Amino acid sequence: MAENLCRTYAKALKGEFGVIPRVTDREYITNSHHVPVWQKVSIYKKLQLEAPFCKYPTGGCITYVELESSVMQNEKAIEDIIDYAMSLDIPYLAFNFPIDTCLKCGYQGEINYNCPKCGNTEIQRLRRVTGYLSEDYRNFNEGKIAEVLDRVKHSEYTDFTKQE
Ligand SMILES: [Zn+2]
Repeated sequence: MAENLCRTYAKALKGEFGVIPRVTDREYITNSHHVPVWQKVSIYKKLQLEAPFCKYPTGGCITYVELESSVMQNEKAIEDIIDYAMSLDIPYLAFNFPIDTCLKCGYQGEINYNCPKCGNTEIQRLRRVTGYLSEDYRNFNEGKIAEVLDRVKHSEYTDFTKQE
């Protein structure tokens, strides 16, 4: 499974070729033709860079962008992203964003520590780490955990008033 391979291959490549900056210097390798998770790129730039490669994988492909929870309230921004991806012939687009829920007051958003509304620490953290929703990314292997911690939110580097 790809989640284990990203670490297994990283270890094998490091063993054979040593540490090569930006190639084998992490605990995981980047999946498929994706822009590396740590790369600070806008949503539109990521889609532009990945779109030309979507036609090559014979087993299918997925293009995703990482969003802050708040972007999901902006229907126009979401519609613009979908329209733009479709204009580039991206066949399969996904949005990753945190859906954390305070189990005391029901507040939803990204809650990394205490609930910002009531201070409660009992939080259900629902994330899309792989192709599926996960309640706790810390259950993945060390390579995948390192990859998740490196992920940037592409929405932070996007000007939603224009398509770049
Ligand atoms: Zn709360």
